[in-house]
Amino acid sequence: MNDTKPPIDGFGRRIEYLRLSVTDRCNLRCFYCLPEGCSNFTPRTNYLTFAEIERLIDAFIGIGLKRLRITGGEPLARKGLNKLIEKLAAKPQLTDLSLSTNATLLRTQARALRKAGVQRLNVSLDSLDPQRFAQITGGGDLEAVLQGLDAAQKAGFAPIKINMLALAGVNDDEIEDMFAFCRGNGFTLRLIEVMPMGATGRWSGRHFLDLQTIKNRLIERFDLVPADMEGGGPARYWRIRKTHHKIGFITPMSEHFCATCNRVRLTAEGKLHLCLGQNADLDFKPLLRNGASIEQLQKALRKALLQKPQRHEFLEKPDQINRFMAATGG
Ligand code: SF4
Repeated sequence: MNDTKPPIDGFGRRIEYLRLSVTDRCNLRCFYCLPEGCSNFTPRTNYLTFAEIERLIDAFIGIGLKRLRITGGEPLARKGLNKLIEKLAAKPQLTDLSLSTNATLLRTQARALRKAGVQRLNVSLDSLDPQRFAQITGGGDLEAVLQGLDAAQKAGFAPIKINMLALAGVNDDEIEDMFAFCRGNGFTLRLIEVMPMGATGRWSGRHFLDLQTIKNRLIERFDLVPADMEGGGPARYWRIRKTHHKIGFITPMSEHFCATCNRVRLTAEGKLHLCLGQNADLDFKPLLRNGASIEQLQKALRKALLQKPQRHEFLEKPDQINRFMAATGG
């Protein structure tokens, strides 16, 4: 049991949750994340090794880290990932080890992930229409995702959360269908507002869909009431009064959740991003490669967390963030 209290940032928030990106590469090209033809990925030689990642996580655990989410790009695209997961899952101080994936590689990997120690899965799925899915993802195969979800359920993952990015003029006519699909399969749907990431000079907001309107429509239609759900993330959950089926809303633009932020992000190359909506970061690779002790890493972590920004400025400065979502995995 980890009784070390998580560190507090400069705004009194306890930072207990790390989102760990193990690769910025992905086998899909979702237009809102990785623009078409995107190829300027980090050279793999620049990635932290699994041993370096584990060392940094040990340092972080020592100052109170409790929750870890493995992300990408597409994390299942990183070779040998299960070796790292087994090491991390063996750390009793980590009370929550989860993974986010586009599920296209899950059919063959679900059982091994479960065996390695992943407790929970979030799956990105923006459409149930094969053609539209291919359009959004730059040629992705919806059937592969559905088979991946089936394999994950058979491997014992529950609850599986479905992350649907709500895009105006793209998939906003599918929200009720996706909710029905999730209810029918025992998944929990979370609707997410698109954020201006990696769109320097290009953010038009064209596909931004204010989820407050959608939420009110669904509350009305399904008689939703507020609910809670395990997870430590930013989603605000509601449930159908009669059936208890849940739905989550992640609204960084229309109703942000920065006041209760509990997380930071580490990129595959070792940069600790203090806020998704700010460019502030600290590069841990030089420290790790110069043989910094656990104490020195912890000192640098504490110092960095005290510099964590109060909140994002997506509305005020939509062109500020020059990195793609795939670099930090959302
Ligand atoms: S935008 Fe930054 S401060 Fe706000 S919830 Fe996200 S990471 Fe936390």
